[in-house]
Amino acid sequence: MDHPATSFQQPAYSETAQKFLARKPMLFINNEWIEAQGPTLPVEDPSTGRFIAEIADATDAEVDRAVAAARTAFDDGRWSDLPPIQRERTIHRLADLIEKYADEFAELEAIDNGKPKDVAAVSDIPGSISNMRYTAGWATKLSGETIEPMAQPRGAMHSFTRREPIGVAAQIVPWNFPLLMATQKISAALAAGCTLILKPAEQTSLTALRLADLVAEAGFPAGTINIITGNGHTAGARLVSHPDVDKVGFTGSTEVGKIINRAATDTMKRVTLELGGKSPVIILPDMDLATAAKGATSAIFYNSGQVCIAGSRLYAHRSIFDSLLENMEQAATSWQPRPSLEPGARMGPLVSREQMDRVMGYIDAGQKAGASAAIGGDAPATNGGYYVNPTILVNVKPEMSVVKEEIFGPVVVAQRFDDLDEVARAANDTSYGLGASIWTKDVSAMHKLAGEIKSGTIWGNCHSSLDAALPFGGYKQSGIGREKGREGVEAYTELKTVFIKL
Ligand code: ADP
Repeated sequence: MDHPATSFQQPAYSETAQKFLARKPMLFINNEWIEAQGPTLPVEDPSTGRFIAEIADATDAEVDRAVAAARTAFDDGRWSDLPPIQRERTIHRLADLIEKYADEFAELEAIDNGKPKDVAAVSDIPGSISNMRYTAGWATKLSGETIEPMAQPRGAMHSFTRREPIGVAAQIVPWNFPLLMATQKISAALAAGCTLILKPAEQTSLTALRLADLVAEAGFPAGTINIITGNGHTAGARLVSHPDVDKVGFTGSTEVGKIINRAATDTMKRVTLELGGKSPVIILPDMDLATAAKGATSAIFYNSGQVCIAGSRLYAHRSIFDSLLENMEQAATSWQPRPSLEPGARMGPLVSREQMDRVMGYIDAGQKAGASAAIGGDAPATNGGYYVNPTILVNVKPEMSVVKEEIFGPVVVAQRFDDLDEVARAANDTSYGLGASIWTKDVSAMHKLAGEIKSGTIWGNCHSSLDAALPFGGYKQSGIGREKGREGVEAYTELKTVFIKL
């Protein structure tokens, strides 16, 4: 369903957004806005391909300044020594302020990332707020344990563990869910008592900068939260190798995750890495096809497929494969890409020209290797912007790059299977292990597959459900450690054991 080029018109930005975009490139360090000294980076609206603002590309000296601010703030205890209830309340106040400016955040996210504003308004922004509220509560609940030693007479020793904040955290987030990733990371560090430097992705820094406006007003002591923008290979790389940084929290590609893990090793920094995925969606023959088709299309087309847990490998039982695909083709008509500020838009453009080229490159490579597009496989005719049509590839083989590698776009590869053992093997035939969904009413098959698939999260009859209370992370090359839940906050603590001879 092609729209004529002229119909891809991005509606006008609000006055508030225009004012924000006209700001000078600044960095937020020590609760102050610092005018950036180094080069700048252009900000682009992926719905139009137009440059709309500039942000700072932090220099080494500016990165060092941000780290020094966080180091001093941590070492003098102005944040970590506060009563936990005060830290909890301060995180809630920041959440209150995001809530107050929710509409502005949703618009900036849409302009910067390309995701529909209507989607950001019901998903990214409320999700950010609720993540923060859940995590804030851990500030008052983290604790150690009293543990009786096994080799000491009873009463001879008082021994216990303490949870202490690790120190200064460098937090590097990607461009697919900018505010959501930023708030998830900072709230975990803050609840644990760490201070931090946040670096958003260079493609999508606007909502992190807007967040910085609110930090001092929420009541964080200077230096607790520092927010700097800049390129990954310069500002990001300096942060993760900085000797005064104790912990790195990173979400992004597996490729960069490996670089970061290596850089962190020199000073033995603690790391939490949330990396790529190639998540299978497995549909058993008993499943209602309309429900399964709706679920499988949302699993891949949500956020234009730019989701680490996107359901990008579809496995449908041979007996239902053809009818399922027909249902999916029907369901995909509601995922046609639209400009991000258009009311009612469900899927926007990809984030950048680079990402669009990458996705089209994969589709092309798949087709050259023998795959064919059941739907999509192309880009709509526009006069700017990075739109790719929802794409389902069939006639694929396990060794094709479209099946093995993370595409990070609205592209799913569809394959048939005959039995559970076969599909479990196929689902596990990947270097990733982030998410997997199983669609069936057969409880036994559901549990069998849930146990066999090597993945940090398994969904039954849904895909992509996440919750602030439940741990999230990857098996294999999808990452190290867990975010969310108690584990996500404990990842910003050291566990200390104390023995006191009585
Ligand atoms: P993508 O490949 O999807 O753009 P990346 O993994 O490259 O995602 O980027 C995720 C985040 O990692 C961004 O904030 C980016 O600036 C940052 N980054 C990229 N390269 C490095 C690096 N060498 N060191 C630290 N951070 C980096």
